[in-house]
This record gives sequence, C-alpha cells and structure tokens, in this order.
Amino acid sequence: MTRDDGRRYLAKSIPIMDVAHRLGISGLSRAGVEHVGACPVCGDGGKRHPDRFAINPARGVYICRQCSSGGDGLALVQFVMGCDFKAALSYLAGEEDVQPDPAELSRRRAAAEEQARKQADYAAQSRARAIRDAREIWHTAQSGAGTAVEAYLAGRGIRLPEWPPTLRYLPHHPYRKYFAGRGVVDWFHGPCMIAAIQDRNGRVTAVHQTFLDPDRPGRKRLVVAPDGSAVDEKGKPWPAKLVRGSKKGGAIRLTRFNDTGLMIMGEGIETTLSPLTAGIRTDAVYWAGVDLGNMGGIMEKTPGARWSGQPDLQDGDAWLPPDGITRLVFIQDGDSDPNSTRAKLLSGLRRAAHHHPGLQGWIVKAEQGRDLNDMLRKAPENDE
Ligand SMILES: [Zn+2]
Repeated sequence: MTRDDGRRYLAKSIPIMDVAHRLGISGLSRAGVEHVGACPVCGDGGKRHPDRFAINPARGVYICRQCSSGGDGLALVQFVMGCDFKAALSYLAGEEDVQPDPAELSRRRAAAEEQARKQADYAAQSRARAIRDAREIWHTAQSGAGTAVEAYLAGRGIRLPEWPPTLRYLPHHPYRKYFAGRGVVDWFHGPCMIAAIQDRNGRVTAVHQTFLDPDRPGRKRLVVAPDGSAVDEKGKPWPAKLVRGSKKGGAIRLTRFNDTGLMIMGEGIETTLSPLTAGIRTDAVYWAGVDLGNMGGIMEKTPGARWSGQPDLQDGDAWLPPDGITRLVFIQDGDSDPNSTRAKLLSGLRRAAHHHPGLQGWIVKAEQGRDLNDMLRKAPENDE
C-alpha cells in the first residue's frame, strides 16, 4: 500500500457528474445516457456540433470529440485545470500527509470498488448489446459470391479461387453512426460487404462493414453525412468502413486454417488478400487483423518513448495467433505513420512469440505511401 491509496480510493469513488459539478461544468443536456454540451476547454460546437463534449455517468467517463480528450474523473480534472495527476488527486481528495485510519480507508476502498463495479457492469451490457447487433447483421446477410461484393473485390484486383464464407453481402444495409447533434442515426442505406470478425473460439463477435458505391461497381462508397458534408471536422473523408460489435482479439478468417504453420495477416481485407491473389504463398493461412490496435494490443509504456513496441502482457484480450501457427507475417501498409505502425506490429509479434515459444515473426512492408493492394493494382495513388 502506498501513502496515496486512501486519496485514490476517495477520488475514484466520486461520481463523474459530481466531479464535473465541482469543476463548474454546467449547461449540459441529456442525450440518452450521456450529458452533452459545450466543452469546458474548447467551447461551444455551435449548431453543427452541440454535443462535441459528453459525459457518460454510467461508464464514468467524459469525451471531447474536438479536443480528442477523454477519460475518468481524475482525467477530467487534469483536462479542465490543465494540471498533472498529482494536482488532480489533491483537487479531488485533498492534501493528506497521513494515512487515514483503517476503518475510513476500507470504507473508501469499498466505495471506489462499488463505483468501478457499476461501470464495469454497464460496459459489459453495452458490449453484449453490440455483439447481439453484430450477430443479427451477420445472420441476415447472404454469401458475397456473385454479388456486388465480388465485383468490389474484382475492382481491387482480387479474384479468389475459393469464396471465403466469412464475406457476405447486404444490399440495403444502414450506415449507422454517431452524428453531431443527432446521436447515433442511420446516415443512409446501401450495398455493403459484411465480414465476420471471429474471436479465438470462432464465435462471431463483430462485423466489419464496407459500404460499396451503388453506381460504380468495384468502388467503395464516398460517404456523405446527413448534413451533406463529405469530410469530418478535421477535414478527413468519412470512413466507408465501420465495425459493429466487439472486435478485440478477433480476426477476419479469409482462408481456411491448415497445418503449414504459416499465417499472413494485414489490417484490411483487401491488403491481406493481395499477396494471395498474386499467387504468393497460396499455402498460407490468410487472416485480416481488422486494425493495427487490434494486431498490436496494448503496449507497455516506456518513459521517453512514444511507441515502445513492447507488448503489455497483462492485456489478456489482445489478439493471438491460434495454436499451430509457427511463422507469422504481418503486412505493414506504407500509407500510415511508419514509426507507430511498426511499433504496434512489433508489439503483436512479440506477444505472439511470448505465448507461442519458437514462433518466428516478420514484418513485410509495402512501398511508402501505398498499401499492398495499391501495388497489386499498380494504381498511381491510393484512393482510400
Ligand atoms: Zn474540447
């Protein structure tokens, strides 16, 4: 036990709405489970983004979508006051030189644990609901073979000898996503590739949705928001790909498992399938890792290094190759920041080697600025 434990328990037992009140945050309005409004740091989002700042009391967290800041009550104090953790702790739990008496300490601990338990229950319920949604989507979808999904992949230069049962199609699928001022709404309906994300036991826990252009076969849809905008607040195009469910630790299984012991994994479906369609190691198992965060898992924090490349081995939910994989190849796209990308991939390979002693790992790089699928198509530039 450290001297600060009593104060930590105390700080963590304070409901986040009380923390907000203490910080003078007011004028928030209810939107479902969240309380939304102007950000205490960056201000009012105007008519377009009246809910850029939100507190979720059930989860005990806040987020500012403009400041890209979020976290628990202690983080909220640091965010609003611009102070460090120590000062935030003093703000919420006072200065204390001596440990409180044991009865008071255990009362505080119980209160903090109660708060944490409530938040965990809520998170578990949300996760279960998201998984239920994902399975419903999955079960209503039809095989992608011979549909706009096959045309889309062909447009990306991908022709498969055997259609993966994990790739399905829905012709009129809702693009369901948060939109400022309106909450989670259907932006539009349209043709969509539905890919199963399966956990290590093979259960579908999420679906990866790629919205297809209804007018131009073989192309991803250019997503337009309900207010007609084609880009988000930061000027980035809205994503044509969305995940619904719980993807952590899962993968999209694009080819059958076999006993070669060799697995090739990229982030996306198209990148992963590119070497296969080019005839490279057609004997390997090809799975897509969905995104870098999932492939790398949580990394250890090393002072001074932004990206340690060392896996946090406490992360029990992180993706791991299945038993029988002895050689693991990660495809590194050239179109994302090379340093953070490499660190995440290294973290994933090191975690895999830790759990499967003797496993060999490689990172194969696409050319700078292009992903492997671009190279396959010999396109002059990435149209992602
Ligand atoms: Zn803000």
